[in-house]
Amino acid sequence: MAGVGLAAVAAGVGLSLGPAAAADGAGTSLTPDQALTRLQDGNARFVANAQLCAADLNAQRGAVAKGQAPWATIVSCADSRVPPELVFGGLGLGELFITRNAGNLVDTAVLGTIEYGAAVLGSPLIVVLGHSKCGAVAAACDVVVKNATFPGSIGPMIEPIVPAALAVRDKGGDFVDAAVRESAIRTAARLPARSSVVADLVAKGKVKIVSARYDLDSGKVEFLG
Ligand SMILES: [Zn+2]
Repeated sequence: MAGVGLAAVAAGVGLSLGPAAAADGAGTSLTPDQALTRLQDGNARFVANAQLCAADLNAQRGAVAKGQAPWATIVSCADSRVPPELVFGGLGLGELFITRNAGNLVDTAVLGTIEYGAAVLGSPLIVVLGHSKCGAVAAACDVVVKNATFPGSIGPMIEPIVPAALAVRDKGGDFVDAAVRESAIRTAARLPARSSVVADLVAKGKVKIVSARYDLDSGKVEFLG
C-alpha cells in the first residue's frame, strides 16, 4: 500500500497523519490472509527450531529506524512466557504491532492502539492471543467459583473476563482453559462493535480479526477463528 493509500485510509476513518506517520512511507503489501499464513509458518518454525529464531537485530534496526510497516497487530498477555515476536518465529524489529496486558484485554488505550495499527500503519491482521494457564483468566475463574477478591486494580482489571468465565463454567473440562478460549474469542468478536474504525476496515476486506491460544507446553499457537 502506498503512502497516499495510507493517507486515504486514515482520512477515510477520520484520522490525521502526523509528520512521523507520514514519514513512514509504504505500509505492508500483505493481505490479511497472507499475514495469517506468515504467523502460522513462524509459529511452526518456533516449535520445530526455536534456536533458529534469533533475528539479526542490528541490521533490522537500521532498516526500520525511519519508519514502520508492521503486518500484524497482536493483542497479547503480559505473561513473560508469551512474547509474540518469539512465539511467531523470531520476528524482529518493525514486523509486529503489539499491545500487552494481563489477560490480553482491550480497554480504551488498547483499542486506540489497534485502530492506529490498522488505519494509520496499515496492519492487515489483528490477533487476540490468549494462552494456557493464564493467571488473569484463572483469577476471573476464581471470582466466578470462589467469589475471590484481589488487591488494588487487579479486580477491576479482570472484570471483563468474568462474563466469558461464566459462559463456560458448566461446560466441563478444564475451566480455566475454556475461559481462555472464550475470552479471546469474545474479545476479538467485539472489536468491530467497539470500533467503527476497525469495522470499516473489516467491511472493506482490508483487515481481518482472529483469536488464538498459545500453549505454554507445546509452543503451538492454535487459531480459534
Ligand atoms: Zn496471561
